[in-house]
Amino acid sequence: MIASALPVEGATQAPLNKMAIGDYLDENKEAPYCKGCGHIHIDKSLARALDLLSMDPGKVAVVSDIGCMGLVDSMLKTHTVHTTHGRSPAFAAGIELADALYGDSALKTIVMIGDGGATIGLLHLVELARMNPDVTVLIHNNFLYGMTGGQHSGFTPVNFITSTTLGGNIIPPIDICGMLATCNAGFLARVLATDHNLPEVIAQSISYPGFALVEILELCTGYGTRFNPQIQNKIKADLKQQGRRLGILSQDQDKKEFAISYKEKSHPADRADQRPEEGIPRLFAHQLTAPLRLIMGGTAGEGVQSAAHLFTVAAVLSGLFTAQKNDNPVTVGTGFSTSELIFSPDEILFNGISMPDAVLITSGSGLKRLEGMLVRMNPEGLAVVEADLTIPQVPGRVLRPSFRGLIPDPKNVNLAAVAAYLKHHPFLPIDALKEAIRRRGKGVEEALDAVERGYQAI
Ligand code: SF4
Repeated sequence: MIASALPVEGATQAPLNKMAIGDYLDENKEAPYCKGCGHIHIDKSLARALDLLSMDPGKVAVVSDIGCMGLVDSMLKTHTVHTTHGRSPAFAAGIELADALYGDSALKTIVMIGDGGATIGLLHLVELARMNPDVTVLIHNNFLYGMTGGQHSGFTPVNFITSTTLGGNIIPPIDICGMLATCNAGFLARVLATDHNLPEVIAQSISYPGFALVEILELCTGYGTRFNPQIQNKIKADLKQQGRRLGILSQDQDKKEFAISYKEKSHPADRADQRPEEGIPRLFAHQLTAPLRLIMGGTAGEGVQSAAHLFTVAAVLSGLFTAQKNDNPVTVGTGFSTSELIFSPDEILFNGISMPDAVLITSGSGLKRLEGMLVRMNPEGLAVVEADLTIPQVPGRVLRPSFRGLIPDPKNVNLAAVAAYLKHHPFLPIDALKEAIRRRGKGVEEALDAVERGYQAI
C-alpha cells in the first residue's frame, strides 16, 4: 500500500523525464509496438507515475495480460508476470493477497490489460471491484484486439470498423467504469492516453489503498486508425454523446481494503481455532535420511484423511517436512478415501507420488482405488493391508493384520493401520502420533486405544 497525496484533475505536468523514468522503464530498448501505437504513452506514464511516488521498482509487480500491451514486460525494470488472456486481475489479486497476508504488504500490484482481455476476463474485474484488493488496473482501451488482427471487442464503439465489423460495429460497447461503479469500485477514472495529466492520474490510482481502475482510451495505428481514419477527432465527441465523462470518476476513501477485512474475519493466521497446529514444536526425533512416500486408502467416513493428518502432525512434531494430498469421490460418506503423504528431512518441492514406499489399505474401496499403486510399490517398501482383502502380487513386504475385528469404532481403523506401520518402520516414534492425537483434543481416548491395538496387532 502506498500513501501519497497527488494533484490530479486539471494538474499540469513537466514533460516526461527520461532520466527519472529510466529507473522503471528501459528506454534504450526499442518499444515493441507499431509506429504511433498508444501503448507507449501508457508505459511511459506508468514509469513517470512510479517516479512521482518514488517507488522502489523492487516493490512493484506489474501483471500483464495477453495482447500487444503485454509486451511491456521486456522494457520494465519492476517485477513482471505475464499471464493468460483476461486473467491478469485474478493473478494480481493472488499476488497482492499473498503479500498482504504472508509478506510485509509492501508490494504494489499493477495490472496492464487491453480491452480484449478486459472483455474476456470481465467477471474478474467485477469481482475485484466487489472485493477491493489493493490492485491497480490500467485498461488499454483501443477498441479492438490488436495483436490478433484488429477484431472487435466488447469495448468497440458503435459504427467503429474492425476486421470483424467491416460495416461498422452494431453492438453498444461496455461502459466498464459505469459497470464497476455499480459494484462499488473504490477508484475509477477515464482518461485519454495523450492527456497531459495521465501520469498523475495513474499515480493517484496507485496511491489508492484498494481496487483502482483507470480506463485509458488510445488508438491502434495498426488497425484502428487504418479502418477509422477520422477517429482521432471523434473520441471526445463520442464519449460526450454516450454521457461518459473523462477524469477521476469516483474515489471512496472509506472503503476497507479486502486484505484488512479478510484478516479480521477469516484468515486462519488470526483464527487460533482454525489453526490448532500453529507453532508445532519439535518434541521427537526422526530416523529419515531421504523422503518417504506413503499412500493410504480406505472407505470414506472411516477417518482415512484425518488419520493421515494426524500422521503429518506427528511428523512435524518429529522435525520432518510433510505434505498431504487427499482424494475422494464427490459423494459424501461413501466410496473410497485416500491420502498421499510425503515425509522428508528436507523441504518438499513436489508432492506427486509415482512409486510409493508404503501403502496402507483398510477396506475394499481403498484397495480398488489403490491396487495400481500397490503393485508398483517400491520393492524395498512395506504395505499394511486389512487381512480379509484379496490382493495381487506385491513387490515389497506386506503385513496383513485384521483391524476390523480389533477396533470397536470403524472411524479409527486407519489410525490403527498407521500405528501398525510405525511399529514395523519406526521412522518417527509412536509417541509422536499419540501426542498429535492429544493435541487434536477430541475423541482422544478412543483414538489412543486404536493406536495401541493397531501397534499390538501384528
Ligand atoms: S497492432 Fe495495434 S495495438 Fe498492437 S502494437 Fe500495433 S498499433 Fe499497437
